[in-house]
Amino acid sequence: MTSNPDDRDRLDVDVLIVGAGPAGLSCAIHLARLLKTQGKSPEERSIAVIEKAAEVGQHILSGAVMDPKGIDELFQGRWKEEGCPIEAPVKSDAVYFLTPANKIRFPVVPPTLRNHGGWVVSLSRVARWLKEKAEELGVTICEGFPGRELILEGEKVAGAITADKGIDRQGRPKASFAPGTAIHAKVTVLCEGSRGSLTKQLVERLNLHGPNPQIYGTGIKEVWELPEGRIEPGEVIHTAGWPLPSSCYGGGWIYGMPGGRASIGFVSALDYRDPRFDPFEAMQRWKTHPLLRSLLAGGKLLLAGAKTVPEGGYWSQPRLYGDGFLIAGDGASFLNALRLKGIHTAIKSGMLAAEAIAQALARDRFDREMLSEYDRLYRRSWVHEELWRMRNLRQAFQSGFFQGMARAGLMMALGGKILADRVPARPDAEHMMKTSKLGAAPAADGASFRPDGVLTIDKLASVYHAGSIHEEDQPSHLVVSDLTICATRCREEYGNPCERFCPAKVYELVEAPENPAARKLHINHSNCVHCKTCDIMDPYGIITWTVPADAGGPKYLGM
Ligand code: SF4
Repeated sequence: MTSNPDDRDRLDVDVLIVGAGPAGLSCAIHLARLLKTQGKSPEERSIAVIEKAAEVGQHILSGAVMDPKGIDELFQGRWKEEGCPIEAPVKSDAVYFLTPANKIRFPVVPPTLRNHGGWVVSLSRVARWLKEKAEELGVTICEGFPGRELILEGEKVAGAITADKGIDRQGRPKASFAPGTAIHAKVTVLCEGSRGSLTKQLVERLNLHGPNPQIYGTGIKEVWELPEGRIEPGEVIHTAGWPLPSSCYGGGWIYGMPGGRASIGFVSALDYRDPRFDPFEAMQRWKTHPLLRSLLAGGKLLLAGAKTVPEGGYWSQPRLYGDGFLIAGDGASFLNALRLKGIHTAIKSGMLAAEAIAQALARDRFDREMLSEYDRLYRRSWVHEELWRMRNLRQAFQSGFFQGMARAGLMMALGGKILADRVPARPDAEHMMKTSKLGAAPAADGASFRPDGVLTIDKLASVYHAGSIHEEDQPSHLVVSDLTICATRCREEYGNPCERFCPAKVYELVEAPENPAARKLHINHSNCVHCKTCDIMDPYGIITWTVPADAGGPKYLGM
């Protein structure tokens, strides 16, 4: 929020949507249809979506079992007929508690993990399809245009500036230099997903924080091709327990897809205490359990990736509106963490934002009071009812898995009558303990982990399977404000946890044996898969994830 927008090429639109995920594209589609019913053509009312990936879908990763409630509403029940790519309807549900060598099947699937009526999908493919639907309605989709800064006029958001392209690593313009465009809009809708960089800036600047801070998990996902008959399309399995200690919240998923493929993944909550913990390693260990080992034997890893999941739910929602702006989707904490579902709520939040914007456009008013209609619509909708019912369930697990299960079970059984008031939460990084306060026990369950390269892989192999790459000769999009802290205080106090919590081996403290004072944090920004874990978990708050200018990052088509 520092550039002068008047120094740049200017583009004026009525509505600017930042982020072409399910929330942003649903907002665009629903709004375009609403405006059509008001007799407005795309020429009269312009809607633009900017997306940081070179192609829509490349930066989108999810499990995913989709609850069809949102997409049913968006397409009036005709999404399958209209060609939405789906992998399989859910055919069966099972939940296992894992010990290191055994599995115990839950006799009854907990209500939050029942998926009957759901659909296994690849969200990156669904997003590409939504993009086509939006374009058919006259929406302009600008791929490879990361929103770098908001245009602010006091507390009013007046649009966004896209990143300058063609700058070398020293910050000097190259021959290919192209300045970013200042896109001015009557309404800007932030739909950047988990830990969006513009959303973060705006929430801090205008103090839009919800009652609780956002809390996160980091999900590591892989897609495998398996020998015939190993898993049925639509077979859904969730696991709890090993390899996480009972003090940590998280678990795994296995979803059957057609063609003998399976989506597997593991989410570790980031409110863990031990700085030696490594969410990527937890996922690899999980694959060595007999349940996974027998499933994956003889199979082939096709794709890999990682992303954070905003788990805070209702109490972590920021103010959703203000002068000239709305916030929707994961960035506004619409995900239901206990159900591991956020697609239907993201779609619905985008639709509600569209309805509020249609009213604002009709009255030519875009102030905070007018746009608060979005909040009113939300509070009358099923998505509010769903998030309110689950408002304390994730926080119930903060004191450990077994206590959490008991408290969550009681809350569900009593319809939220216990723990009805807000259960507070702290930012994830505040839970991390200094190494001097740790006992001798390692973070997970044994000696240091060595991937075998077949069943288990290392972080660089995962980056390869994510297809992640950034141009080397550009400023790093990972901004560390004080590298001295990394080499001194963080080394001593936390043992540089960035080397472990980053799933892409971006951060490496390079030792200088002859001169320890010359040790330095090396940042391999090209590896980054845009999961945002570092922006959340750095214990000193000195790492800021920003959008890379080159539209680099993972290429998640099929994830
Ligand atoms: Fe994730 Fe940060 Fe590592 Fe990129 S650098 S992969 S955002 S933890």
